[in-house]
Amino acid sequence: MLWNWIALSRFEPMENILNYINGELVAPVSQSFLDNINPATNEVYSYCPDSDERDVQLAYEAAEAAFPIWSEMSTGDRSRIMLKIARLIEENNDALSLAESIDQGKPLWLAKHGEIPRAQSNIHFFATAIEHFASEAHPMGNHALNYTLRTPVGVVACISPWNLPLYLFTWKIAPAIAAGNCVVAKPSEITPMTAYLFSKICMEAGLPKGVLNIVHGLGPKVGSAMVGHPKINTISFTGGTKTGAEIARVAAPMFKKLSLELGGKNPTIIFADCDFEKTVKESVRASFTNQGEICLCGSRIYVERSIYDKFKTAYVTQVAALKIGDPLQDETKVGAIASKVHFDKILSYIELAKEEGGSILTGGKAFVPQGRCENGLFIEPTVIEGLNHLCRTNQEEIFGPVVTLQPFDTEEEVLEYANSTQYGLACSVWTENLGKAHRVSAKIKSGIVWINCWLLRDLRTPFGGVKQSGVGREGGWEALRFFTEAKNVCVKL
Ligand code: NAD
Repeated sequence: MLWNWIALSRFEPMENILNYINGELVAPVSQSFLDNINPATNEVYSYCPDSDERDVQLAYEAAEAAFPIWSEMSTGDRSRIMLKIARLIEENNDALSLAESIDQGKPLWLAKHGEIPRAQSNIHFFATAIEHFASEAHPMGNHALNYTLRTPVGVVACISPWNLPLYLFTWKIAPAIAAGNCVVAKPSEITPMTAYLFSKICMEAGLPKGVLNIVHGLGPKVGSAMVGHPKINTISFTGGTKTGAEIARVAAPMFKKLSLELGGKNPTIIFADCDFEKTVKESVRASFTNQGEICLCGSRIYVERSIYDKFKTAYVTQVAALKIGDPLQDETKVGAIASKVHFDKILSYIELAKEEGGSILTGGKAFVPQGRCENGLFIEPTVIEGLNHLCRTNQEEIFGPVVTLQPFDTEEEVLEYANSTQYGLACSVWTENLGKAHRVSAKIKSGIVWINCWLLRDLRTPFGGVKQSGVGREGGWEALRFFTEAKNVCVKL
């Protein structure tokens, strides 16, 4: 049970993580497991199934068998089971948060007060949304009546990344099962633990067998078997832009329905007329929450020249004061980087920034804490200035605790900077001038614009990116529409 997990996980290797197929926890067909590493100590602490296409096939068969019963169940009955899952997430917040922190490296308090409650809200939100989901009717005078019949699409694939593991996993699974689909899901092999604990919660909540199947393992083995499966015709993916392109390449000739939530390189635009104190504080949060490993983090900060020096001093002072280290300690603001590969990638970008002529204002290197985390994967929160907006450091996604500062003079200039990358996920704009805020928001090429705030999310709003940040929208009705097929029925009167 979940509860024993805390004692087991902290200091000893625990039982193997298992796949969740047809309502049961099972080892992969290969009987092979991958090391699962705690990034704060850089030690193996559990084992993740190294599944392959045979496990995906078993998961598909279970989902296909469950589909007729689940899809025909009343929305009320589906909703009740999902509400029980949501309740169990809430009741097990402590165990899930600890698992997330150990597996991903994020501060425990962040998991406890942010991500795990949000995973609960995802399930709760779609459990209730499905009770209110309606479709349109289009009468043609007295001649005919059209109505839109929305039916679940069948067996769908949900693939998620490592940065917000349970949060993003449930963000996909919740609308999929609420709409009556059965799911084959894959969490990241870097952070499989909370998906495993979630499967135990689904069992306890009485989710019928086969409705959700979780296959753990590597992307090129498990993920690609899901994407290439001839009978899985709908894929919801969150992850890197390169992986998204590969998924689209495989899925397009098979005419699969795709939702792709991909990378970002988000600008933070700060005008001289902003509320200064609030802007400094919130832009620090927008840069370094979860070690900067949130697709929505602001990593390019553009500051109007007249306040550039004042902003730089205040911002760098606050960044340098962020406590970095053991994710389990309450005062830690910046935890460990999720994996060694990613750690090396971030450090290589800091080197690149120096080669491109950037000056490091604070941070700029790995951090070695004392004590139990001395071998962990930590990088100091890093602020760089002196770079052109078109250099690689400012164009490519780093996805870590690294931001750049650059001054601007006019609205037109900052819009050019902000829109200059291949990405278009999110942006935040800081100004007390309402007209300017609206003007800039309209001209920013991104799926989300926050004005005088960051990461303020209402689950009913459309979520997604433009350009190479993604295709399609999640959230609210958008997600329920994605996971259903619309059929027009025309009745001659
Ligand atoms: P990734 O693309 O490497 O992996 C994401 C998932 O895809 C993992 O489960 C992985 O195993 C799987 N995968 C890898 N290769 C695959 C393949 N060929 N076929 C099918 N599945 C495959 O991404 P990551 O490193 O785990 O996550 C970081 C990236 O995710 C960043 O680029 C970040 O911006 C992005 N992200 C985007 C959003 C968003 O909402 N737009 C949210 C979070 C993270």
